[in-house]
Amino acid sequence: MSQESKVTYSKVRCTSALSKSSLPGLDYTVNPYVGCEHACIYCYVPDVLKRREFKDQWGGEVYAKENIHEALTRQVRRLKPGIVGFSTVTDAYQPYEKKLCLARRTIETLLANRFKISFQTKSSLILRDQDLIKGDNVEVGFTITSLDKDFSRKFEPMAPLPEVRVQGLETFSERRVKTYIFYGPIIPDYNDDDRTIENILNIAKRTHSRVLYDVLRLKPILSKRLQEKMGIEDYIKIKESLHREYVEGVYSKILRTSKQVGASVEPAFP
Ligand code: SF4
Repeated sequence: MSQESKVTYSKVRCTSALSKSSLPGLDYTVNPYVGCEHACIYCYVPDVLKRREFKDQWGGEVYAKENIHEALTRQVRRLKPGIVGFSTVTDAYQPYEKKLCLARRTIETLLANRFKISFQTKSSLILRDQDLIKGDNVEVGFTITSLDKDFSRKFEPMAPLPEVRVQGLETFSERRVKTYIFYGPIIPDYNDDDRTIENILNIAKRTHSRVLYDVLRLKPILSKRLQEKMGIEDYIKIKESLHREYVEGVYSKILRTSKQVGASVEPAFP
């Protein structure tokens, strides 16, 4: 176990690497890490994992599945190839990956065994693996919640800045890799304004990326963290704004803007 900055890194062993997925468009998921150093304050993962250490402090513990390659190699021999979400409860391209290269080995094994991969990340570290991420069996998504640096530092304190993600998206698009933008979570009064929507959809148009969008969903652990990080007043404002009319209104605005801009958009969770 080692300590770098404020993050504790550990190595763990896993019995399986691929899990069946019920997420739209995905047959399996793979997550080389448990925990995520990007520490986004809106992250749903602690609510999904329900692990005690993540409940009070998200972003401070990262576990690397050191034997993921062996576990995956065993599994791919007996599973039917399908689309793998890479990753769904962590960002596989967080800083620890630079050292361990678990994501890279996982990609090699999946593609060699005829699985397709749908990536989602906030990190330009994925560019390291451009030599593998090519062709029709991959798509690359960058989460772009806003283009505003202050928004990003407030809500995604340790993740690469939006401009870095846009550059990553452009690079893959130029290399003719299928790309998408995940625009979410949309947080009332923070990243739902006309300018943000127009800017994100213009980037999508320019890079031939589709946009998947979704509003913030207030889950219990997430709600507690938002109250602590933002203060109770701001949290209550967000909570009170998230009613059906708001959601319908912001989704209509995205649809209207997409027609003006000529970008392709769809709800992330229809
Ligand atoms: S990058 Fe994704 S998994 Fe990591 S903290 Fe942010 S939202 Fe959660």
